[in-house]
Amino acid sequence: MRSLTADELARYPHVPEVDRGRARVVAVPRLTPGIAGMTLGRWILLRRGHEHDGDLLGHELVHVRQWRELGPIRFLRRYLGAYVRGRVRGLRHQDAYAAIPLEQEARALSGY
Ligand SMILES: [Zn+2]
Repeated sequence: MRSLTADELARYPHVPEVDRGRARVVAVPRLTPGIAGMTLGRWILLRRGHEHDGDLLGHELVHVRQWRELGPIRFLRRYLGAYVRGRVRGLRHQDAYAAIPLEQEARALSGY
C-alpha cells in the first residue's frame, strides 16, 4: 500500500489535490477478469503488472473523487444501477460498463 509519489501528485491536475493526497494504491494479485484497476473509496486496487500504469492511475483517481463526493451508498447505487439498466436494455457486459456515466466522466477527464 502506498500514497502517490511526488511525481504522481503533480501529474493529475484533473483530480482535486485533496483526492490525490487521500488516494492509496494497492497492488493486488487478481481482480475481476478483464479489469486492471478498481477503486473502492480512496483505495485504488491495481492488478500486479499495472502498478506503474500512469494512465490507469489517472482514471482511477477520478473515481476516488466520485466516491468522496457521492459517498459509498450513492456511488454504488448510481454505478451499479446504471450498469444494470444497461444490461436490462440489452447491452452486453462491456457496453453496459462503458455506458456507466461515472465511467464516462472518468474517461473524459483522464483521457483513458
Ligand atoms: Zn473506471
